[in-house]
Amino acid sequence: MQKQKRPFCQTKAYRNLTEDEITQLTEEQAREQFTLFRWGSTTEMPCPNCGEADKHYARRSRNQWRCKHCYSDFSVTTGTPFLNRKLPFKTILHLIYDFIAAPKGLAANEYNAKRGITLRTGFLNYHKIREVLFETRDLTPLAGLVHVDGGHFCGKPRRPRQRQQVTSGIVNNKLRNRKASMIPGGQTPVMEPWNRDKLKNRRIAIVLREIGKKGDGANRTIVAVAMSENALNAIPIIRKYVLPGSQVWSDDGHAYKRLPLWYDHDCVTHSKEYSTNNGVNNNQAESYFSRLRRAEYGVYHGMRKQYFAFYANEFAWRADMSKKSLGEKYADAMEKIFKCGPSKAWRGYAQGHRLAFEYFG
Ligand SMILES: [Zn+2]
Repeated sequence: MQKQKRPFCQTKAYRNLTEDEITQLTEEQAREQFTLFRWGSTTEMPCPNCGEADKHYARRSRNQWRCKHCYSDFSVTTGTPFLNRKLPFKTILHLIYDFIAAPKGLAANEYNAKRGITLRTGFLNYHKIREVLFETRDLTPLAGLVHVDGGHFCGKPRRPRQRQQVTSGIVNNKLRNRKASMIPGGQTPVMEPWNRDKLKNRRIAIVLREIGKKGDGANRTIVAVAMSENALNAIPIIRKYVLPGSQVWSDDGHAYKRLPLWYDHDCVTHSKEYSTNNGVNNNQAESYFSRLRRAEYGVYHGMRKQYFAFYANEFAWRADMSKKSLGEKYADAMEKIFKCGPSKAWRGYAQGHRLAFEYFG
């Protein structure tokens, strides 16, 4: 019998960084780790204000440096998403580790008490990491074979007060997983206006995944948020992120009917099959949605439309990093933090400022 290949996340090579390695650090060592990730040195660095690299004057008691050229004071978090931090460096490192090590997303209420912080602090800091991953994502157009699909998220109405009329026939069909259970007869319950209004918060994630070698799944994932799944919304996103002339596989939705104008397009009719006789499918896009869907229902329990692009991109990152070890994921997140300036979406959140616009990606 052929031995089944274990997923990479269950191998020893994946576990090359454990939580203990962060727990053992002193606060001084944690700050040093931050400094090394940012500048690769603890003594010589460019001034964030004027850009001059030098061995600046150390202000040890304040954990700062004073620039030899422009005399401004700076610390390792100056000009990063963690500027004006109040949390110890070690706690921030712990939060980053928690975030990258969680396989299915991480809700703040899972860790806040354990890390000794409030729910809001946990929420804010995890979201700062999501924003970093969003701001630094690779948007180079995809090529080769690309799987495309749209998934509906956010804006869930509650079940109506009255239940749908159910007969034993429908229950029977449902138990046997028959198609008929999806079109139940009888009276359709009325949805109250306040409940129907929740549908206005619905957003569509359009996902594009470049397929790698056979059996390797997807190489790279780009996801954008749209207001609805139609050609008007979907086509510009696909044309922006997929090189013309590439091969695109999608389902038979109306949104994708015009794709043959620019691409070698094939589609699979999902009401009939998951993969055509020629092997055409969009299963990599579906696989991405299955994870995001489970995170929405099982981990986050709700995603606000303003930040939905952050969540969607978080899962694109998790999917693309699935063949990387914990150490590599940690280093990737740390390096990206220093490629970003101060947070745009979360600045002043603790002071009550809320985002006035939506991210679409
Ligand atoms: Zn300077």
